[in-house]
Amino acid sequence: MSGGQFDGKVALVTGGGSGIGRAACQRLAMEGARVVVADIDAAGAERTAGLVAQAGGEAVAVRADIAREDDNRAMFDLAEQRFGGLDAAFLNAGILQPYGPLETVTTEMFDRLIAVNLRGTFLGVQQARARLRPGGACVVTASAAGIIGFAEAAAYAVSKHGLVGLVRSAAAAFAARGARINAICPGMVLTAMTGNAGIETIDDPDRLDDPAYRGALTAQQIAEVALFLLSRRAAGLNGQVQAVDAALLSAFPPID
Ligand code: NAD
Repeated sequence: MSGGQFDGKVALVTGGGSGIGRAACQRLAMEGARVVVADIDAAGAERTAGLVAQAGGEAVAVRADIAREDDNRAMFDLAEQRFGGLDAAFLNAGILQPYGPLETVTTEMFDRLIAVNLRGTFLGVQQARARLRPGGACVVTASAAGIIGFAEAAAYAVSKHGLVGLVRSAAAAFAARGARINAICPGMVLTAMTGNAGIETIDDPDRLDDPAYRGALTAQQIAEVALFLLSRRAAGLNGQVQAVDAALLSAFPPID
């Protein structure tokens, strides 16, 4: 593949074994990037790498739990060892559970969610800042729940609000190294996380015409925005928080 926006570039994607992360791996590879597909689900990561290879791209899968400092370091090491450096880091892995009323969230549940979504991404941001080549970029997947509250997923909203603060706080440190960091805040996306595994691409537009999916986005639509922010075309954007929400945050009363 040549003539792509990411020709000669190296990308790392966490949560690359499913949903938004998988779509991003496929798009990055289609644009010429060599991709490290990191996920706690080794089989999912392998499957993504296989899909990239089938399409003529180059990817390597690695099992990594982003909550762990050593796994975080190892996945960035792999990008350098296998592909010689890093230009794009899409820190996208996350979990939604515990889902339910505030009073049902135990300390253990809260700690695990924060360890993955917030601490894990924080560790990834530290690595990305140290490792990205000049001109490189990092994108963090926050959520609409990083902008407004989410009554049924308070711990999740706490973690995603934290990521918005992280991105804003880290931007100057990235700029000092000639790199950038931005956040995306997806609305309702049709992936395994929302019980919609298997309809993640815009190759399936008929499904989106179903009224049940009104206001929903595909993983591919989110990946497109991440790709733009990772690319040189977004060179003027640093420390920004971009909603990709099909008007979820703008529509009151809600679209029915
Ligand atoms: P998904 O469940 O399809 O993908 C999430 C991936 O992250 C999975 O492959 C999972 O194995 C991986 N993962 C989970 N814990 C991990 C860990 N500790 N270390 C490494 N990988 C881990 O869901 P998705 O919708 O593609 O979610 C991607 C991101 O988008 C998440 O951060 C999520 O919070 C965010 N998001 C999703 C929605 C939505 O509606 N689906 C909305 C807003 C934000």
